[in-house]
Amino acid sequence: MSARVAIIGAGPAGLMAGIAAAEAGADAIVTEQLDRPAAKLLATGGGRCNFTNMLRPEEFMARFGRQGRFMQPALAGLDPRGLRDFLTGLGLASYVAEGGGVYPVGDRAGDVRDALLGRCRELGVEIRCGVCAEALLFDESLPPGLRGVRTSTKERSAQRPSLVENQEISASAVVIACGGQSYPDLGGTGGGYDLAAQAGHTILQPVAALVALRVREEWLCQCAGVSLQSRVWIDLPGRSRRGQTGDVLITHRGLSGPAVLDLSSEVSELLGRGGRESVPLRLEVCAGVGKAQWKERLEGWRRHEGRRRLEILLAQHLPARLAELFCRQAGCLGTLASQAPADKAQALAEMLSALSLEVSGTEGFASAMVTRGGVSLRQVDPRTLQSRLLRGLFFAGEVLDLDGPCGGYNLQWAFSSGRLAGLSAAHTRDSRPVAL
Ligand SMILES: Cc1cc2nc3c(=O)[nH]c(=O)nc-3n(C[C@H](O)[C@H](O)[C@H](O)COP(=O)(O)OP(=O)(O)OC[C@H]3O[C@@H](n4cnc5c(N)ncnc54)[C@H](O)[C@@H]3O)c2cc1C
Repeated sequence: MSARVAIIGAGPAGLMAGIAAAEAGADAIVTEQLDRPAAKLLATGGGRCNFTNMLRPEEFMARFGRQGRFMQPALAGLDPRGLRDFLTGLGLASYVAEGGGVYPVGDRAGDVRDALLGRCRELGVEIRCGVCAEALLFDESLPPGLRGVRTSTKERSAQRPSLVENQEISASAVVIACGGQSYPDLGGTGGGYDLAAQAGHTILQPVAALVALRVREEWLCQCAGVSLQSRVWIDLPGRSRRGQTGDVLITHRGLSGPAVLDLSSEVSELLGRGGRESVPLRLEVCAGVGKAQWKERLEGWRRHEGRRRLEILLAQHLPARLAELFCRQAGCLGTLASQAPADKAQALAEMLSALSLEVSGTEGFASAMVTRGGVSLRQVDPRTLQSRLLRGLFFAGEVLDLDGPCGGYNLQWAFSSGRLAGLSAAHTRDSRPVAL
């Protein structure tokens, strides 16, 4: 088997790379280890696929942190507006939701997948499912150049698939678009890191990102299922107290919800690469309501509503179950507002304004939306997404060490980088290694 461009992984980055390479006149083949393409794409946005966000490029890149500028050339080639236009051109209109997130009209991730697969068909991009890339193939030159990929094919008819065949795909260019390590069931096996490492690439330790957190305070989990508009921040020197504001969901083992997910990548990094056993968090239970305001409220209740119980009064501002739980923790459950001892009222105000929690871990890759870490950006040229170590090798999507928050950022990166890598790969004819 041979093709000018071999692409590994049929996620959004790989499919877009195939489309871009074919549009540039190259024959392209995409191999996918699962028995269907774009499995993860179907799960995005709760099945609705929040595929981009209408922020301006500068703000967009800032959401990816210090390394965000790496995206500039890829975003310049395909920005959020360009992606929407591209999909509209394939017959898929989209709309902008509150907060700038963009979804396909119809709210079906399957429509985005079908549009991409339809375009692949039109252009003759071959997609081979059940084919796992195992190794890069090098030629005999010194230092070795890239000549293709070795794959293993799974027998698709069998109930329990077994490896049946090894094959070689010779190609002038190879795009690694294998995604990260999250949701292994949807293809997040981390296989792209092994392939990149074969070419000498440095892999930054992958950690689960956009993931629910476990906390040591088991008492809080009695309120699993309760969600609030809160502010949450990492309580460590040098970390911003601004943290994240938004929906926070109490779970059976800790916290989740958009505000927590957006903070989770930093927490996960401190636990993983930072080697910390736990990470202290603070929760302003009702976003924007600080200690002084709670004290004022408690004082007002003492004066004017003294015959009512504190948990009943607190339930005007919090879900009743949580109000009860906080009063119990502060030692004033069932206490009349006029009779609350000063130290208990103080404890309650402190808890509500900056609840102290200790994160002991995350829910891990099994339920993380993305991976932080991966192929180091230092060894990849942002203008082409070509390896600086091996000519003819390209990267696209989440396999690279870039991750954004919730809101359509990660898919836009997958599409933009896929397009740039596919175009660059289509123009590679000579795969001799780059002199360093
Ligand atoms: C539940 C969930 C919801 C999400 N929601 C959103 C959202 O609404 N908006 C957003 O922007 N992002 C969202 N994301 C993140 C987003 O899905 C990913 O960032 C994006 O899919 C990355 O695209 P990719 O093409 O780089 O990788 P992937 O989509 O992971 O695709 C990589 C493909 O490569 C294949 N592969 C891996 N190794 C090999 C190999 N050796 N050989 C052959 N094939 C291989 C995998 O099977 C996989 O199909 C969500 C993620 C999850 C898990």
